[in-house]
Amino acid sequence: MSHLKLIILGASSAIPLSHRYPSAQFLSLANRHFLIDCGEGTQIRLRQENIGFGRIDHILVSHLHGDHFFGLIPLLSTLHLLDRRKPIKIYGPKALKELINSHLSLSNARIGFPIEFIPLDFERKQLIFEDSGVKVHSFPLNHSVPCCGFLFEEKSSPRKMKKGKIAEYGIPFSEIPSIKNGAAWADQFGKLIDNHELTDPPPPPLSYAYCTDTKPVNHLDRYFKGVDLLYHEATFTEEHRERASQTQHSTAAQAAGMAKLTESKHLLLGHFSTRYPKLSDLKEEAAAIFKNCDLVKEGMRIEVFSGDRLPKISLAEVR
Ligand SMILES: [Zn+2]
Repeated sequence: MSHLKLIILGASSAIPLSHRYPSAQFLSLANRHFLIDCGEGTQIRLRQENIGFGRIDHILVSHLHGDHFFGLIPLLSTLHLLDRRKPIKIYGPKALKELINSHLSLSNARIGFPIEFIPLDFERKQLIFEDSGVKVHSFPLNHSVPCCGFLFEEKSSPRKMKKGKIAEYGIPFSEIPSIKNGAAWADQFGKLIDNHELTDPPPPPLSYAYCTDTKPVNHLDRYFKGVDLLYHEATFTEEHRERASQTQHSTAAQAAGMAKLTESKHLLLGHFSTRYPKLSDLKEEAAAIFKNCDLVKEGMRIEVFSGDRLPKISLAEVR
């Protein structure tokens, strides 16, 4: 059974507060790990959540507003001090590479491991990472500076052999991989056995889409549809809709509209303005439009298993 796990390191926008940190999430999908955005304090949050720094091989930065990347250089510096040797992949706006390099050179700092930088495309959907188990795309959002969302998808697994069929038809083990990939099987009398008689379909691959910071994107469903989890920023409530539009952010109601448009199964709201001491208003606003929604919070863990596919949410206290 495959598994998706999202740990919320920071869920706030702009200003860090004592228990609210700017954007950062740690995603595990099919045993691959991704750090998504890296606001100030991310390395402290990683420690609080007991996430080993050695698990960080991919860091994705959506855009160059400080509340999404001010934690990156301190984290790279710590990885160096921890004697990291293996390479790290950083995905972000082109200027992020210059920013890292000039910061390091002006402060006479050195990073003792290779950084592979992958620039984001702000015009179109782009495959930025792929291996045998997962693929990751970026896609353009609509913010006051170039900004990308990210789509993480498991790859389809092979079909599963039905119980007892190998023995029933005397299928040699060498033929099983091709049958799992959809081939039919000819039995000893030359009779062709349809693949559907022999195998069951695999569970649909798990998927997660991350959309921050952005105005509602009217064609978001061109980039993805039917994801298990959609994280969408909800910086404001409808009361401040105009402010949301001026700053190119979304309201909770607009985020819910995006979940509907993309036929997402579950919506996570985040990136809240610190002006709202009571976040429940944001949830109420979104839930009136899209029922399956939750507010994210520092210390929250959201897990989805390929079996029942229902998000399991737990909350660890952030010290
Ligand atoms: Zn921003």
